Amino acid sequence: MIKKKIAILGSTGSIGKNSLDVINTNRKKFKILLLSANSNYSEIIRQIKKYKPKFFVVSNFVTFQKIKRKFQNKKTIILNEFSRVPIKLKFDITIAAIVGIAGLEPTIQFTKNSKKILLANKESIICGWHIISNIIKKKNTKVVPIDSEHFSIQQLTNSYKDADIKKIYITASGGPFLKKPLNSFKKIKPKDAFKHPNWSMGKKISIDSSNLMNKILELIEAYKLFIFNPKKYEIIIHPQSLIHAIVVFKNGLSKFLYHETDMKIPISNAIYENKINIENIVKKKNNFLFKLKNLKFEKVDKKRFPIVTLVNNKFISKSAPIILNASNEVLVDCFIKNKIPYNGIFEILKRVFKDRDFTKYAVKKTPSIYEIYKIDKWARDKTWQLISKNYEKFI
Ligand code: NAD
Ligand code: MG
Repeated sequence: MIKKKIAILGSTGSIGKNSLDVINTNRKKFKILLLSANSNYSEIIRQIKKYKPKFFVVSNFVTFQKIKRKFQNKKTIILNEFSRVPIKLKFDITIAAIVGIAGLEPTIQFTKNSKKILLANKESIICGWHIISNIIKKKNTKVVPIDSEHFSIQQLTNSYKDADIKKIYITASGGPFLKKPLNSFKKIKPKDAFKHPNWSMGKKISIDSSNLMNKILELIEAYKLFIFNPKKYEIIIHPQSLIHAIVVFKNGLSKFLYHETDMKIPISNAIYENKINIENIVKKKNNFLFKLKNLKFEKVDKKRFPIVTLVNNKFISKSAPIILNASNEVLVDCFIKNKIPYNGIFEILKRVFKDRDFTKYAVKKTPSIYEIYKIDKWARDKTWQLISKNYEKFI
């Protein structure tokens, strides 16, 4: 049996570890050729020992040096940069699961050398889809988005045209603050925002989920991935996170996709082309009928989640998403490090969008990699500037 060659970019993260668990349930079928991570020393060591990948890319230089020293003369080759991965290396499946724009270049690189790519790294889709999609067309790479909403939309709309579709709902759980009194929002601490009611995820996406920024990013992700008119999408609150997308067709039929809140489900289905007995991988009991009768849906409350007011053409088209993404990365990081309050994320974002240079950077239709980084850098610098300018208000 020929083993499928696997690469996991961001293997120490939440999606990365879930992917390794999926692969581990049928190890004989796979050869783990490459793993990658930033700086989680103990997890990198654990993974090298357990999975013996041919290559491990460690992005953080200090961690790279430590790991390289430890694994000298061992079978795993430790690299510090993706550009050092031999170009002749080919993969059957790559799982792109780095967080943030740091995933952009590796995702581009692995779209070139992989037959199939499972895309989790939404920030790279948001900033560089025009580059990734060109390679996909050229190289005939198969793409499966594994962000659960986009996985669902892809499954539900396969073989349908824009003209067939009336509406697409993207569901949002509403996160940990769906019922929290509005006057207590100011006191929200990072640890409160990490407590997502349904999913266990990385830190950044947990914060993004708590204020619905994750849904704005997902709307943009959907605009990029699918051919449907952006006006057809709507965010809807669904606290149970069991339905991930609903597609209303013009023919009077509506379809939705239901699955339990475990990312191993979209990951496994993407790896095995839906031909899998999920009970071999996810041990949770699926009491579908009981849960079905309790599904709730409600409109988004804009007072509670003011970030949804950003769904305005000016902020989410052309190169504006690069600015949105970069500012948000800085702001989430600052909030996690207690440098700004929770409300500061939206307050500073609004100011970035009002800056007189915003339009200059937001109007590029298909920026090159170089231009993407230039726009990203402007947004990061501007965000830092505004954070320090408003610092007095925050303390
Ligand atoms: P995470 O924080 O748990 O893991 C991130 C991974 O990226 C880690 O392996 C880390 O080492 C690596 N990384 C971080 N910074 C890096 C850098 N500068 N250079 C190289 N590698 C770096 O994140 P996650 O929750 O697994 O999410 C990963 C991606 O998948 C994100 O884009 C997220 O939006 C998306 N996603 C996640 C989930 C989920 O359930 N966790 C669901 C849908 C989409
Ligand atoms: Mg999602």
